Amino acid sequence: MTKIKKVDLAETSHLALSNRVNAIPEALSIYINQLMYDMRRKGRDVVALSLGEAFFKIPLFDFNKLDIEKCYHYSDSQGILELREKIAGYYYKHYNASVDPTEILISAGSKPIIFMAIETLCDPGDEVLIHEPAWLSYQEQVHLASAVPAFIPYDAPIKEFAKYVTPKTKLLIINNPNNPSGRLYSAQELKAIANMAQEHGLFVLVDEAYSDFIIDETFVSYASIVPDKTNALIVNSLSKNMGMSGWRVGYVISEQRIIQALLKVNQHLITCAPTILLHYMATYFDEVIAITMPQVREVVKKRQRVHEIIKKIGLKHLGGDTTFYFFISVEEFDGDVMDFALYLLLEHGIAVVPGVAYGASTKNFIRVSIGTESEDRIEQSLYVISDLIKSNKITHKGVMDRLDAMGFHKF
Ligand code: PMP
Repeated sequence: MTKIKKVDLAETSHLALSNRVNAIPEALSIYINQLMYDMRRKGRDVVALSLGEAFFKIPLFDFNKLDIEKCYHYSDSQGILELREKIAGYYYKHYNASVDPTEILISAGSKPIIFMAIETLCDPGDEVLIHEPAWLSYQEQVHLASAVPAFIPYDAPIKEFAKYVTPKTKLLIINNPNNPSGRLYSAQELKAIANMAQEHGLFVLVDEAYSDFIIDETFVSYASIVPDKTNALIVNSLSKNMGMSGWRVGYVISEQRIIQALLKVNQHLITCAPTILLHYMATYFDEVIAITMPQVREVVKKRQRVHEIIKKIGLKHLGGDTTFYFFISVEEFDGDVMDFALYLLLEHGIAVVPGVAYGASTKNFIRVSIGTESEDRIEQSLYVISDLIKSNKITHKGVMDRLDAMGFHKF
């Protein structure tokens, strides 16, 4: 007979958590934003160059027009058909990509969708290749799925990507346009990626979250490169393009085999994205786009103007003309970039995200987001950043003491 394990109640209060979760750090960008919000709550004026979104003016359309009986309840786990049809129309109109509504799954933000995709495609131990600068959640999601992240340095040309493929590589993730560099992958590059993936038997996940933040028509969706979407997943959401990050509505486009597999995971984890918001978006999709798209264009123009300031000051940065980010090099700074970012925040009230969040090859960079602050405040902050890069007054101990004195926990 098996003996029943007896536990001392006093000892059970601190049982070990899973190694998997213990091993992952908190999200560095969210840590910085949290410090920024805490400082603001204490009355400090902080310039937020750390937020991963642009703020738009969007009116509130009439919820009363929605069928409230439906809205209170669970809905289609794949996302209501009316909204999938709108998304298919949007991909066709804006990106010339033919997508059938059956090839779309909508869920509660693209973040859980990317995790569900890794779960769906990879077994424990499989490798996921990520091209740097790599958005910080990719690698932690890979860890959570018990797969293994591997990285392609930011400056590796696409023709060399195959060098990083091993017999264990199962999936390649790219972010087009790229957060944080603003780099765009050309049609030719995407074709080369598709060919390489086919040759080596890899799935490709292209995260297109910033697909509208481009001044001309140069964005090419992977859905138009691989029209049958075989082994291809295209992820997008309302968060950035429509400035509705708080609504938590994201979607994935893929071949039906993958959508059906993802649907099983979605059924067990999410059930459905918030029904009322799906109905709202299905009803007002065109109106929202008509209002947000000109504002998207304004943000990209603002980025161009800030780019001129960056060049004038002489700040080195990764090439790229899209999104609302700049990835600025602080390699001349003689110390740890995390200390640099914390000093900048605690001492000067300027919040940026340290580049280490985006991979080993980019640890000497900081991400500056221009989406939410005025150009004057951005310009002043860039001068402070430039001066600080050349100074050598930051010490790790000094920064840690300061963090402690302000009552903040270490990362
Ligand atoms: N991909 C990238 C590249 C992002 O920057 C973000 C959010 N910062 C996401 C995905 C997740 O977006 P959401 O879950 O809001 O759709």
